[in-house]
Amino acid sequence: MAAEIGLPISVYRPGRYPVCIITWQGSCPELPSIMLNSHSDVVTAEEVYWSHPPFSGEIDENGDLFGRGTQDTKSLSIQHLEAIRNLINNKVTLERTIHISIIPDEERGGSEGMKPFLKSQYFKRLNVGFALDEGLTSPTNTMFATYQDKRPWQLNMTFYGQGGHGSSIQTSTAVEKLQLLLDQVIHFRREQSQIMSSSKAYDFGSFNGDSNKCNSQQSECCGRVAVTNGASH
Ligand SMILES: [Zn+2]
Repeated sequence: MAAEIGLPISVYRPGRYPVCIITWQGSCPELPSIMLNSHSDVVTAEEVYWSHPPFSGEIDENGDLFGRGTQDTKSLSIQHLEAIRNLINNKVTLERTIHISIIPDEERGGSEGMKPFLKSQYFKRLNVGFALDEGLTSPTNTMFATYQDKRPWQLNMTFYGQGGHGSSIQTSTAVEKLQLLLDQVIHFRREQSQIMSSSKAYDFGSFNGDSNKCNSQQSECCGRVAVTNGASH
């Protein structure tokens, strides 16, 4: 497809699996480039649950295409290429170079494809200033742009509490403080669950509208954790 549009394609293999980069050069190639990312790998498919063989790419009489990975994320790679094809056909030239990256191991965490590629000189030479990754496939002509819809939030915590002899029951122990935190986490989780279930499908507005509430919960949660009495244990 890249050749059809007249775009050069490079395949890099700094890790075990190949990373594919299709480049549309801009009129100011010295500017930081834009990367549009999608992935070529897919999760497994159990054929028994499929109406059509999952790796056949069959198209039925309605024009629906069946195949594991068509939405996650072959459709995205196609959208990127088609968008560029349209721009080229309409004689549009962008200032910035666009790189379409199709990476091999997103579903497995990227350690044998994207991760070594990011550390390589090949990636540095692309001079990427901004990147967009996979999002939602839309059944209509309305496309949704989302950001940070789900992110990991990892914390390391140490709890300090009052120690003492096993024959007595101490107060203000580390475990009690841990329990306080867990209560907060469960409370926060329930609240998030309510927010999600009260939002209509694709209604990202109301989800974002409650984000301040979420943040205050987070800082309250962290505030409690920060209070330690510095005793042994
Ligand atoms: Zn994906």
